[in-house]
Amino acid sequence: MMRKNMLESLRRIVQEVNTAGNLQAVLDVAVLRVRRAMGTEVCSVYLREPSLGRLVFSATQGLNKDFVGKVSMAANEGLVGQVAGREEPLNLEHAEAHAAFLLMPGIGEERFSSFLGVPIIHQRQVLGVLVVQQQERRRFNEDDEAFLVTVSAQLAGVIAHAQATGSIVTLEAGQEKHRSARFRGVAGAPGIAIGETAIITPFADLYAVPMRRCKDIDEERDFFRECIEAVKEDMRALGRKFSRRLVPQEQALIDVYLHMLDDNALAGEVDARISRGEWAQGALSKVIIQHLRTFETMSDEYLKERATDVKDLGRRILAYLQSANSGPKEYPARTILVGEELTASMLAEVPPENLVGLVSIRGSSNSHVAILARSMGIPTVMGAVDLPFTQLEGREIILDGYNGHVYFNPSAELYGRFQAIYEGEQQLSKGLEALKDLPCITTDDVRMPLWVNTGLQADIARSLDRGAEGVGLYRTEVPFLLRERFPSEEEQRQIYREQLQAFAPMPVTMRTLDVGGDKSLPYFPIEEDNPFLGWRGIRVTLDHPEIFLVQVRAMMKANAGLGNLQIMLPMISSVPELEEALELIYRAHDELIVELGVDLEIPVVGVMVEVPAAVYQAREFAKRVGFLSVGSNDLTQYLLAVDRNNARVADIYQAYHPAVLQALQKVVDDGHAEGRKVSICGELAGDPAAAILLTAMGYDVLSMNATNLPRVKLVLRSISSVRARELLREVMTMESAHQIQAFMEQALIDTGVQQLVRPQVAEIA
Ligand code: PEP
Ligand code: MG
Repeated sequence: MMRKNMLESLRRIVQEVNTAGNLQAVLDVAVLRVRRAMGTEVCSVYLREPSLGRLVFSATQGLNKDFVGKVSMAANEGLVGQVAGREEPLNLEHAEAHAAFLLMPGIGEERFSSFLGVPIIHQRQVLGVLVVQQQERRRFNEDDEAFLVTVSAQLAGVIAHAQATGSIVTLEAGQEKHRSARFRGVAGAPGIAIGETAIITPFADLYAVPMRRCKDIDEERDFFRECIEAVKEDMRALGRKFSRRLVPQEQALIDVYLHMLDDNALAGEVDARISRGEWAQGALSKVIIQHLRTFETMSDEYLKERATDVKDLGRRILAYLQSANSGPKEYPARTILVGEELTASMLAEVPPENLVGLVSIRGSSNSHVAILARSMGIPTVMGAVDLPFTQLEGREIILDGYNGHVYFNPSAELYGRFQAIYEGEQQLSKGLEALKDLPCITTDDVRMPLWVNTGLQADIARSLDRGAEGVGLYRTEVPFLLRERFPSEEEQRQIYREQLQAFAPMPVTMRTLDVGGDKSLPYFPIEEDNPFLGWRGIRVTLDHPEIFLVQVRAMMKANAGLGNLQIMLPMISSVPELEEALELIYRAHDELIVELGVDLEIPVVGVMVEVPAAVYQAREFAKRVGFLSVGSNDLTQYLLAVDRNNARVADIYQAYHPAVLQALQKVVDDGHAEGRKVSICGELAGDPAAAILLTAMGYDVLSMNATNLPRVKLVLRSISSVRARELLREVMTMESAHQIQAFMEQALIDTGVQQLVRPQVAEIA
């Protein structure tokens, strides 16, 4: 194969398989295209069927297609088995001569002498084998081998996704049937939810339309027709408005659009689907996506461009369909909200009493929406990339927020087990209520103040209800996120006053605006290639002193007469940055005194330790401020170089990593060496097992979401500080996060709080 053609062939193959509708289509396109690109006589795919432990002949070009899906071989049999078992390519000039050669009867491979097979591997799992064969005896050259390996690596992801997604609805004898399925994601917020799904979609997004049946076919057809007429009118108006400025070709384009909206074109196809009972939005989305797939595989640049027109037209119609359908949506009594990328404002759309669970197709366990969900105590699964969410509208699902799984149509036995865990949870919560007014002290009388992280309005009541002793992190960006512009100084003062007043005289630690990373304000978008290493936290506010100054002024004004405010600075990575921020705070304070003519107290200021540089400069920072507070969410991400928002690397985002634990110990030691208090406000503080270790390390305050507070209190009231230190000593000799995690789970059991260990339902599924 010519090197220069490789990239182009590869690109086309990947593009085509990506637009194929289902698993079989993916495989069929792949074998067709690979055979053509490599100029071989045969190309086949053998897929591993895990339940059978066999490799199934799944698609072919060049062998007998009648046998597809009907023959298979044991996982270690034949040349294909060799490739799968050894997880490496096998390139043979004379296949029959190989010791493992085994003829699969019927498929017609006798004639083919040369064999090149490569494994298809996705996330360390062998999904199957991709094979090309040739009659003429020749050894495939290095380029061929490299090409096939490259194709296979790219195919793997597409195949895995198609396999996992599948269709949850099959039509058998005209009856809709649902298969049972479990979809994997990332644990977002613990708990079990059993409820009905509501799909939340961004406006006019053709790819996120839920599939539904319509209530009244005739009404739906009329409604669709009205929307088409509205779009046609828009197009004509556009034509009239620009008639003098449009060149004839552009005028012609408007005619093309109008033509596409005719009954015998797009609109007709959609109408036919509606007549079969689909709702208009779903029918439209299917028709448009199908057309886009056809256009996108065309090599003609002009025709490819037409795909953009079809998409544009589709979105215009969808916008009409959706706006006419808008208005307050009715949510089921037990709503599990599902969306491609859930945001804080989407959560706010569902009445809180109806919302029992969340599933986000994108994002990971420390995405901010997951943090909010934990604080609200709503079981959540993040990064459920294979969930065919548009097919799930209004279905009952079980959500396992401990393990990050979503179950569709589960067996009665499984349902029963989840129901039992759910009931156990309710009981545990009730039992924990009794701890509300008890102090958090170890069995040998060491006190550990438990504070809360807040942001939403509702956090106040929840926190007080659970016996919080202060606020260790008030995420001020949350009220900013729920608005359409920056809140004014007075608006901010009122919001902050409410927090301070609700908790007074307990301390409230307000963090200055921390946007960037995965938190972007709709009215202040920050678009960067590398947002977590970019303009975020203090970097943004130092560049915008007008935002920073207004915020700290509002905080200090709100503190008047109360005196329980602490200010905390996020993402500090150097001394000059800290000094600059402190100077602005002092300036705002001086100005306020002059302006108001009263002597306002200067609040205690602290620094968040959340980047590795801050770990090494903890002493220098501590000298300049009143306290340090570790943001372990970001600190873990930066120490381990693992994006907290990326589901693909969620399993190596390990807060129990020995490097993280060592950093945590160093920060507390260094802070104390300067006589400062050191707290921790990342999610780790709310993990009962980690709370034992943090107590032993000497942390002065643990700040967590209100949901976890009673759990942490239970564990700390069940253990002595001496035992906690013994456990820490052992943990500090361990070399892997998994080992530490398992050791600490056992420690919880030994402490008699096994109910706090995460249930492992996955094993029985
Ligand atoms: C942290 O990074 O640990 C933290 C508490 O801040 P946030 O999660 O808001 O980034
Ligand atoms: Mg942070």
